[in-house]
Amino acid sequence: MNEIILLKLGEVVLKGLNRRSFEDKLVSNIRRRLQHYGSFHVYSKQSTIYVEPQGESCDLDGAYAACKQVFGIIAATRARSCPKDKDAIFHCARHYLDGQLREAATFKVETKRADKHFPMNSMEISQYVGGLLHDAYPHLKVDVHSPQLCVHVEVREKAAYVHGPSEPGAGGLPIGMGGTAVSLLSGGIDSPAASYMIAKRGVQLELVHFFSPPYTSQQALDKVKQLARELTPWCGRMKLHIVPFTEIQEAIRRDCPEDHFTLIMRRFMMRLAQAVARRTGAKALVTGESLGQVASQTMDALAVSDEVCELPVLRPVIGMDKQEIVLLSRRIGTFETSIQPFEDCCTVFTPRHPKTHPHLDEVREYEKALDVEGLVERALAGIERVQVAMED
Ligand code: ATP
Ligand code: MG
Repeated sequence: MNEIILLKLGEVVLKGLNRRSFEDKLVSNIRRRLQHYGSFHVYSKQSTIYVEPQGESCDLDGAYAACKQVFGIIAATRARSCPKDKDAIFHCARHYLDGQLREAATFKVETKRADKHFPMNSMEISQYVGGLLHDAYPHLKVDVHSPQLCVHVEVREKAAYVHGPSEPGAGGLPIGMGGTAVSLLSGGIDSPAASYMIAKRGVQLELVHFFSPPYTSQQALDKVKQLARELTPWCGRMKLHIVPFTEIQEAIRRDCPEDHFTLIMRRFMMRLAQAVARRTGAKALVTGESLGQVASQTMDALAVSDEVCELPVLRPVIGMDKQEIVLLSRRIGTFETSIQPFEDCCTVFTPRHPKTHPHLDEVREYEKALDVEGLVERALAGIERVQVAMED
């Protein structure tokens, strides 16, 4: 079947001189993303990316769904190609969009003519095809302002294409264009949503997870791996750095005041994530913190954890309510996994009365009881790395 996928570039088109490299990146991201669905010819021309199946065995449904998850694409549609002839275009529209033409009450035809050698202009093509469609579907009324169905005709270099309305793409920028960041992934709702938001801005993620066996279970770790996998349709392949955190948590519990447990623990997380960033060339950290959500996410507490970081800490959900984060996590498909009830290292030694307005001097003083460097070094030495790829 001569059906193809057309993808419209999003913000990529605003990038002026960088545009070429953005387009190239996007095309290569799409090619990689479509590997599971058969062989496709993917190329860009005139602000559109063409995805043409090479052979009958291609899974066009799967490929289309996948394309809608690739950052950098603002709209997607399936289209049928036909010879560049006015009657062929009409017949193509009639057969390809028959169901939609029957259902709609009003319609219009909109034509783009990229091939300036075509003997009719856009208006003439629209009028011709629209007239014949009107004859074929007498119930249809023409409405040029807000039709229920817009039949799109594009006359391009190689062929003409006919399609109905397009659907929204994932938006954002192609992954890889914005550098790399380390995202702190817990098993909760917020950090997968935060990871998604930063990846959407074109950033390749390295994931870091802290786990504290035997206080946290193998199931909790499996859940985080599952969340990472669920992010890959959006974020691409990622490495998950699993950092042993038990010794650090036990040391804090033994040597620091209870109301400062979480704060001091978070400072260790930041130090370790930053060390991973240094090793992987990442330029920022990402967390799922939201202002005021818990004691460790007040402005005072954030200042205390940021103090150990030189890299910028990106907190894309900082201003979002839990309900908004939940909606996002449902939409991207991580919510159901996030709500599985397994302990995270954050919830194992939770203080009864956590400090909400800590003082940096005090925190530093308490940390003197710990061998910060040694603890960090040993945790880094115990990191296990797993590659997370998409589920088939
Ligand atoms: P989430 O924020 O993902 O829903 P949570 O609310 O249980 O989980 P918080 O205690 O709010 O987590 O922690 C704030 C942030 O710290 C998380 O969003 C995440 O970025 C990071 N974080 C917490 N625990 C871990 C962990 N075990 N491994 C990696 N990062 C973590
Ligand atoms: Mg949270």
